[in-house]
Amino acid sequence: MASESVKVVIRCRPLNDREKVLSCKLVVSVDASHCQCFIEKPGAAEEPPKQFTFDGTYFINQTTEQMYNEIAYPLVEGVTEGYNGTIFAYGQTGSGKSFTMQGVADPPAQRGVIPRAFEHIFETIQCSEDTKFLVRASYLEIYKEEIRDLLGKDTKQKLELKEHPERGVYVRDLSMHTVHSVAECERIMEIGWKNRSVGYTLMNKDSSRSHSIFTIHLEICNTDAAGKDHLRAGKLNLVDLAGSERQSKTGATGDRLQEATKINLSLSALGNVISALVDGRSKHIPYRDSKLTRLLQDSLGGNTRTLMVACLSPADNNYEESLSTLRYANRAK
Ligand code: ADP
Repeated sequence: MASESVKVVIRCRPLNDREKVLSCKLVVSVDASHCQCFIEKPGAAEEPPKQFTFDGTYFINQTTEQMYNEIAYPLVEGVTEGYNGTIFAYGQTGSGKSFTMQGVADPPAQRGVIPRAFEHIFETIQCSEDTKFLVRASYLEIYKEEIRDLLGKDTKQKLELKEHPERGVYVRDLSMHTVHSVAECERIMEIGWKNRSVGYTLMNKDSSRSHSIFTIHLEICNTDAAGKDHLRAGKLNLVDLAGSERQSKTGATGDRLQEATKINLSLSALGNVISALVDGRSKHIPYRDSKLTRLLQDSLGGNTRTLMVACLSPADNNYEESLSTLRYANRAK
């Protein structure tokens, strides 16, 4: 069933130091056992909180370890069996997307989804006796609807999206890197991460304005009793989306405004694709509306699994952005 292949969870981070200094109040709460999330409008005590239901809700003190084991594990396991899967982190800048995807080394329970997925894949490879795996990685970013190879010789070169009758949609000249261990994966991830375009907005000076896609390509080879090889391929896309904040709050003008419009184009196109997939009745899935959705076409829908982690701040001064994240995630649901 279409809805089974797309899961949406929310993750609400703790108040940060700035929000504490400003004595911000918590407006987000969850009922984890019913996967429900509530948000109260600040200064409107008489209004009932708005309520949303997801496939999982992770609140302030919950760990990436728990989230990975409960919701990401089956998706990555599927990739090692030859299915395609995609994990997205969505949310405004500063809401915890990188914390969720990249994570921190300490405490270990907060290591990110990406290093966990690397470990998971290499553990599976080490444990399998009759199956051979070839693992390759690619890393690209989409910035203002232009694609660049974060691991290429020239990271400034714009790459083209092409369509091949058998291969489907692919990025011409994107570099592929064979990897043999978790450490090698981490090393190339780090190289690519440093090559991302970073911009300056009033909200967060390190805010990334680009979407980045780290893809692990697996070729899986089983030899049967008659000595015949059977090949399968699986792909895991790990996507750190650009901040979802609207332009007005970030004080964007000129070039920045143009950037924000294009970023939102990809985000709204993604929302439309996911909601059409979840709906299951739509005959037309609007993949062609953005580079992001075209590129991920073979990993969204059909025989694939998708996980969207919508990240949010619990603070009253982020109410509008958090509500908009919940609405986006709810549409995707
Ligand atoms: P984004 O990638 O969405 O811009 P970050 O992941 O950089 O946001 O998070 C902003 C800040 O909040 C970072 O200092 C990060 O360590 C902290 N943070 C985010 N999520 C959590 C969490 N669940 N628990 C503790 N700290 C968090």
